[in-house]
Amino acid sequence: MVSLIIPSYNEEENIKITADTLTKIMDETGEDYELLFVNDGSKDGTYEKIREVSSENPHAKGISFSRNFGKEAAIFAGLSAASGDAAVVLDCDLQHPPTLIPDMLKLWHEGYEVVEGVKSSRGKEGIFHKAAAGLFYDIMSKLIKIDMRATSDYKLMDRKVVDVLLNLTERNTFFRALTFWVGFKTTKLEYEVQERMHGTTKWSFTSLLKYAINNATSFSTLPLQIVTFLGTISIIGSVILAVQTLIKYFRKDAAPGFPTVILLILLIGGFIMLSLGIIGHYIARIYEEVKGRPRYIVSETTDNLKGAF
Ligand code: UDP
Ligand code: MG
Repeated sequence: MVSLIIPSYNEEENIKITADTLTKIMDETGEDYELLFVNDGSKDGTYEKIREVSSENPHAKGISFSRNFGKEAAIFAGLSAASGDAAVVLDCDLQHPPTLIPDMLKLWHEGYEVVEGVKSSRGKEGIFHKAAAGLFYDIMSKLIKIDMRATSDYKLMDRKVVDVLLNLTERNTFFRALTFWVGFKTTKLEYEVQERMHGTTKWSFTSLLKYAINNATSFSTLPLQIVTFLGTISIIGSVILAVQTLIKYFRKDAAPGFPTVILLILLIGGFIMLSLGIIGHYIARIYEEVKGRPRYIVSETTDNLKGAF
C-alpha cells in the first residue's frame, strides 16, 4: 500500500481534479493506495470538497486541522496517518506532476528508500520570487552542507524513513532537508514544475522570509558562530585603534577624532544588536521547542480515517 499525502490550504477548486488525476494514475499502477488530504485550516470549502470526494472514492481520506499550522505540519500529520509501506508527498495544485509517481514507485521497488523529486526548472515564477528563492537555497546549501538548489517537497519515502521522521522530537521541522539528514538509500528523479491549476500561491513575502529564517536556524548554528566571529573582529579592531589613540595621546598630537568615535559606536552598536537579534532568535526557537506543544491540532477526520489520531 502506498499513501499519497496532499497538504491543502485554500484549494477548493483543486481537490476534485487532483483526486481524480491521482486515482487514474494509481489505478494504472495496480498498487493499493490511499489519498490523504490534509486540510491545513483552509478558509474556503476545501474540507467540504475533501469530504465529498471521500464519500465517492474509498481511497480518498481527509484530515482537518483546527487552524492553519503550515505545510510542514500538514505533511507530518499526513505521515502519521499514513498506513502505506511507502508515502509520497505532493502539492494539491498538481505543480508536482503526478505522472512521476509510477517512476518513483519503480525506483522504490528497486530498493531505494527515498526518491527525491528534483526540479529541472522552477516553472513560471516572478523574477523577484525566483531571485529570492535562488538566494535562499544558495545560503541554505552552504549552511547545512546539502545541495538544496533543486530539491522540493515532492518525494517518496519508504516506511522505514517515515517512522524515523515521525520519531524526531523537534517541532520546527524542515521536511525538505530532513530527508537528506536521515540518510538512507536515496535517488533523484527530475521533473518540470507545472503551472498552478487554480488559485494563487499560498506564500507571501513575509511567510517566505519567516520560512527561510526558521529553516536556516533549525538546521545550522553557524549564525551563532558568526556572532562570535564578528565580536572577535571588532575587538581586534578596537585594540589596534586603542593603541593608536594612546600613542597619539602621549605624543600630544591627539586629533579631534570625533568621526572615529562616532563610526566606532555605530559599528560596535550595530554588531551588538545584530548579535543579540540572532541569539534572541535561537532562544525563541528553544522556547518553542521546550514548550513541547503539538505540531498541529486535528479537529476532524473523514469516517474512513477514524482512530488514526
Ligand atoms: N499549503 C499548506 N499550508 C500552507 C500553505 C500551503 O498546506 O500554509 C499547501 C498548498 O495547499 C499546496 C502546497 O502547500 O498544496 C504548496 O503551496 P503553494 O502551491 O501555495 O506553494 P508554491 O507552489 O507556490 O511554492
Ligand atoms: Mg504550488
